[in-house]
Amino acid sequence: MLVREGKSVFKGVAIGKIFVYKKADKAVTKETITDVEAELARFQAAKEKALEQLKSLYEKALRDVGEEEAMIFDVHQMLLDDLDYNESITGIIESEKMNAEYAVFMTCEQFMAMFLSMDDDYMRGRAADIEDISKRVISILNGTQVSPEAMPEPVIIVAEDLAPSETVQFEKDKILAIVTQKGSANSHTAILARTMNIPSLVTTDIEVDPKYNGRTAVVDGFAGLLYVNPDEETMVKMTEKKKRADEQRALLQEMRGKDTVTKSGKHIHLYSNIGGVQDVDAVLENDAEGIGLFRSEFLYLGRDNYPGEDEQFEAYKTVLSRMQGKKVIIRTLDIGADKQADYFEIPKEENPALGFRAIRICLTREEVFRTQLRALLRASAFGNLGIMFPMIISVKEIVRIKEIVEEVKLELDREDIAYGNFELGIMIETPAAAVISDLLAPHVDFFSIGTNDLSQYTLAIDRQNQSLDNFFDPHHEAILRLIQLTIENAHKSGAWCGICGELGADMELTARFLQMGIDELSVSPGYTLELRKRIREC
Ligand code: PEP
Ligand code: MG
Repeated sequence: MLVREGKSVFKGVAIGKIFVYKKADKAVTKETITDVEAELARFQAAKEKALEQLKSLYEKALRDVGEEEAMIFDVHQMLLDDLDYNESITGIIESEKMNAEYAVFMTCEQFMAMFLSMDDDYMRGRAADIEDISKRVISILNGTQVSPEAMPEPVIIVAEDLAPSETVQFEKDKILAIVTQKGSANSHTAILARTMNIPSLVTTDIEVDPKYNGRTAVVDGFAGLLYVNPDEETMVKMTEKKKRADEQRALLQEMRGKDTVTKSGKHIHLYSNIGGVQDVDAVLENDAEGIGLFRSEFLYLGRDNYPGEDEQFEAYKTVLSRMQGKKVIIRTLDIGADKQADYFEIPKEENPALGFRAIRICLTREEVFRTQLRALLRASAFGNLGIMFPMIISVKEIVRIKEIVEEVKLELDREDIAYGNFELGIMIETPAAAVISDLLAPHVDFFSIGTNDLSQYTLAIDRQNQSLDNFFDPHHEAILRLIQLTIENAHKSGAWCGICGELGADMELTARFLQMGIDELSVSPGYTLELRKRIREC
């Protein structure tokens, strides 16, 4: 049995098999090998596995969508079995003594170049198929595959770290727990785990080595421990602990349907944070009273091009409709920093967290912003919408945003497209915004305090940098005073004020936030019922 320690960012116990996830950019390394036979066998095994996957994909597509669509997986099987393709790979392994990943990668490059140089459109189109099958084999070889075929049952993910663009690839119901080598309490890995209600450890002292793939493990999110190949005694103890945790969770169910009200009778709006349409189930299961933060940028991640207006409209409309008139606050695109999508082509920056991100991108690339606003406004006809803008630092920005919103309204009027009423708010997540919140408040309906970024910028501590954990104090008086100031200034102008950063779920601070006069707390769905209990005790 191997025991490893990490920092727990969400409690709970998970028992299952490990899936080692490696970053795609680290996927193809060039290595010299000594055992040619073993490398050839490794390639053969990966190829067989890929063929099996393609066969089942073919059968599934045949059942679900018909023969024409299924054919592509048949073509992929033929290409993967192609003699020239295979001889090129085995040739590189044998004569150049290179590792299988590299041999597949080089063969892929050569074959793609050959197909792309052909005159015939059909043949040129085969280049993409070669790339597809090669990527499949490489990802099997180095354990970076996250497709549903690679994860037939729910798994414990072990990774170096997970960027938001990577987490969007996972099927959420296939994840039992997340264990990362890097990460911090406010990283998006931690936020994702909380949204999914699954135990998670960051800064865990474990090698991200495919040798752990398929091994049985236990994640104890209470003690911050990972057990690989647990012995019988540990397994019995952990199964018991899991049972108790499940019972504890079941007990919280009695909070469902209860009012979120303090002992002195003040009602607090208890909302949830989500990253996409798929998270609405968790919001409803945990009886949240609305959605206080829909991180819309997740619609833009893990893809090759911008989501169009209609696609966005459908997503926003679905969330609004499913929430049946309850408040849904959608934050406009907060791309940049750790949330990167290549097609935005953001130039490389020295300090991305202080760089071109969020509203700065939207106010520079107005066409991207206007598309999202059109989708949001159209969706406003289907529920109770609030639109919120991230990373604000000045009044000038809000004035410009409101001008653009008015222009989009006029455009929709001209096209005779319906929209409803909606609130406009901003995130207070920079010290600048908190300090001038008296000047900002008259321009908006609400503030939502993003304590994750507000803490990082106030304390000058990168939220992703775990080596600064000893310096990071989430309860730092500077942060609490900025929160207090923001709430006071919102109220002076008749605006409401909430918290949607992770600090909102910190139950040691609940009483203090209530004393400050907070109106709303928006937390990961998994915290909702526990926080309702806490508020009712205050
Ligand atoms: C925040 O900064 O607190 C916040 C809620 O936004 P994000 O975590 O997505 O940056
Ligand atoms: Mg933020």
